Amino acid sequence: MDRRDFLSALAAAPLLSHPSLVDLVRGASRAGTPADMGLQTGVDEAYALVLGTVQDAGFPQVGCYTDRCDQGRALHSRGQGRFVSSLAVVQPAAERFYLVDATPDITRQLDLIALAPFRRRAAQRRPFDGIFLTHAHIGHYLGLALLGNEGLGIRDTPVYCTEAMVDFLSSNQPWQYLAQQGRIVWHPLALDHWHRIDEHLEVQLWKVPHRDEFADTVGFVFRGPSASLLFLPDINSWGAWDRNVSHAVASVDVALLDASFWSLEELPGRSMDDLPHPLIPQTMDALQAVVDRGDARVILTHLNNSNPALDDNGPERREITRRGFEVAREGMRIPL
Ligand SMILES: [Zn+2]
Ligand SMILES: [Zn+2]
Repeated sequence: MDRRDFLSALAAAPLLSHPSLVDLVRGASRAGTPADMGLQTGVDEAYALVLGTVQDAGFPQVGCYTDRCDQGRALHSRGQGRFVSSLAVVQPAAERFYLVDATPDITRQLDLIALAPFRRRAAQRRPFDGIFLTHAHIGHYLGLALLGNEGLGIRDTPVYCTEAMVDFLSSNQPWQYLAQQGRIVWHPLALDHWHRIDEHLEVQLWKVPHRDEFADTVGFVFRGPSASLLFLPDINSWGAWDRNVSHAVASVDVALLDASFWSLEELPGRSMDDLPHPLIPQTMDALQAVVDRGDARVILTHLNNSNPALDDNGPERREITRRGFEVAREGMRIPL
């Protein structure tokens, strides 16, 4: 089996191996010690855990009763729901946890971090060693609100983002109040060079073109002891980026990329010149050679509720798999 066949098999499999939320939570409440945690995860190595895979407003979306959104409701009722795009970076041996984008689904998606040390740290109001935020659209930072007074009430937690994002959050409520109360601590990071977060994790911020009404937008490149991962959930188009997308993706081991839409049919009234996101077929065309060479794993995320690639058995998903690409799924674990 060559790499592409292997990836195709992998991409076809995640739902079979995807544990339901109920199973994950049961596992966490049984586990009581770091040794239990090791048994449960089977690894001590760092990894990124996919906490969410859909566009800012979730799946289903509020008041949306299309067949596809009803499928989204059915997934939630089976404990296999999709949440707004987000990651956790997990270092099991060090018992460190980072959150990448704080979404409106934060309450339920954090249950996917089914590890006893995470729960112990949450009880101490300090579950995360840091929170990374890509930009100021609702799916990417509103979840911070649930970590304040009325919710978890975290303390002393670094928030890593751009200077412009800090300016926006620190001059608006309730985010300013979170900082005043000492729940979060601003850590603006400069673009385009490595920042050491701890002895096992470095990060770079890559600015991307996007609708920047309030601040700016970045993708994060995380580098762990064994691999690097690009998380880039929102971009207007690959062509408008100041980086060459195939060079950028080939420079990392795994890329989780904006896959909001499959086709223009999902965007009535928009033209090809007026697209707010790259279409999945455009992304696959731009990166086919990178995937064929095995330079990087490309995983599609941030799917809109209109996107037919949400259908696990549809022709669009088969096309994605055939071409060697993957669709992100909650509970996916990506070695770092
Ligand atoms: Zn978004
Ligand atoms: Zn956005």
